[in-house]
Amino acid sequence: MAKTIAIVNQKGGVGKTTTCVNLAAALKALGSRVLVCDFDPQANTTSGFGVDKVTASPNIYDVLVNDADITKAIVHTDYADVLPTNKALTGATVEMIAMDRREYRLKDALSKVAGDYDYIFIDCPPSLELLTLNALCAADSILVPVQCEYYALEGLSDLLSTVRIVKRALNPDISMEGVVLTMYDGRTNLSLQVAEEVKRHFPGQVYATVIPRNVRLSEAPSHGLPVSAYDSFSRGAEAYAALAQEVLDQNRT
Ligand code: ADP
Ligand code: MG
Repeated sequence: MAKTIAIVNQKGGVGKTTTCVNLAAALKALGSRVLVCDFDPQANTTSGFGVDKVTASPNIYDVLVNDADITKAIVHTDYADVLPTNKALTGATVEMIAMDRREYRLKDALSKVAGDYDYIFIDCPPSLELLTLNALCAADSILVPVQCEYYALEGLSDLLSTVRIVKRALNPDISMEGVVLTMYDGRTNLSLQVAEEVKRHFPGQVYATVIPRNVRLSEAPSHGLPVSAYDSFSRGAEAYAALAQEVLDQNRT
C-alpha cells in the first residue's frame, strides 16, 4: 500500500513543485513505484514531467468532479507516473462544495490505485482551502519545504494549526514526514540563520539533506525533465537523490 505524502506550504515559491518533481523522480530511480498527483491548478508539476497540461485528458479535475476513472488519467513517464491537472481544477473547489464526502474526493480516488505504488506525492496549491484540505485528508503525512529566506517561518503556524484541525476532525492518522530546507545558500549568513531557526522550531523533524540554490533546478522544468535527467551531476540532482535516500531510510520498518 502506498504511503501518501502531501507536499504543502501555503506560501508560493518555496520549492513545493521542485521538491515534488525531483524527490519523486529520485525515489523512482532508487527503485520505488511512484505516483505524483498534481493538485495545483498552475500545473507546474504536470509540465515538469513533460506532460502536456492542455491535452492530458482525463485529468485530476475529471476524476474529482466527473468521477472519471483514475487509471485512465494516469500518464506513465520515465521518471514517475503522473496524475495531470490544468486550470480547470480551480473550479473544482466550487463544484465539490455540494458533493458527498467533499473533503475526501481525492482520498477516495487515490485509494483505487494505492496498491500499485510505494509512494504517492501530492503537490499542493499555495492556499489552505478545499483543494489542500482534500490533500490533507488523502495524506498519511506532510512534507513541508521551507525556503531559506526572510520570513521563512511565517505562515507555518497557520499550516500547523490547519493540520491539527484536520487531524482532530477529518484524518486522525496524519503525521509530519519532515521539513526540508530549500534554496539554501551556504555563502550567506541568512541561510545559516534560517536553517538554525527552523531546526529550533521543528526539533528532530528537519531533514539532514538541505537543497541548495542551484540553477539547474530552475532550468530543468523548461525541458520537461526532472533535474536527474537534465543534469545528473548537478548539486541539485545530488541533493534530491540524498533526500530520497533519507525518505526511504525513514520509512523502512
Ligand atoms: P512552489 O511550488 O512552492 O510555488 P517552486 O518549486 O515552483 O515553488 O519554486 C519557485 C521557483 O524557484 C521556481 O522558478 C523554481 O524553478 C525555483 N527554485 C525552486 N527551488 C530551487 C532551488 N533549489 N534552486 C534554484 N531555484 C529553485
Ligand atoms: Mg508549485
